[in-house]
Amino acid sequence: MDDIKYSEKLKEVLDKHEGLCCHCGSCCGATDGDYCIQLTKKSDNKYYCKIYKNRIGMQGTVSGKQFACIPIRDFLKFNPPYPKCAYSKGI
Ligand code: SF4
Ligand code: SF4
Repeated sequence: MDDIKYSEKLKEVLDKHEGLCCHCGSCCGATDGDYCIQLTKKSDNKYYCKIYKNRIGMQGTVSGKQFACIPIRDFLKFNPPYPKCAYSKGI
């Protein structure tokens, strides 16, 4: 496989994986009352991260609590599963 095809395949796999997110916002605090300040709800009634591509690292919640935003696969190792989250089901 040449480099371009490899890159295209990688993007396809990544897009498919990202597409599993239903944007419930649970992992960003949408359901616990102290959500991340980078979280926003759009007109489709789904939650999105305002800085998604640069999200990894220290962030803050609306109450001022500091926390580290980490990839969902790591986040789920330390937190209970979310019923709506495909990644919680081990996908
Ligand atoms: S920075 Fe992390 S926790 Fe905050 S909204 Fe974005 S993805 Fe969610
Ligand atoms: S809990 Fe899962 S489905 Fe919900 S926003 Fe987070 S990654 Fe997406």
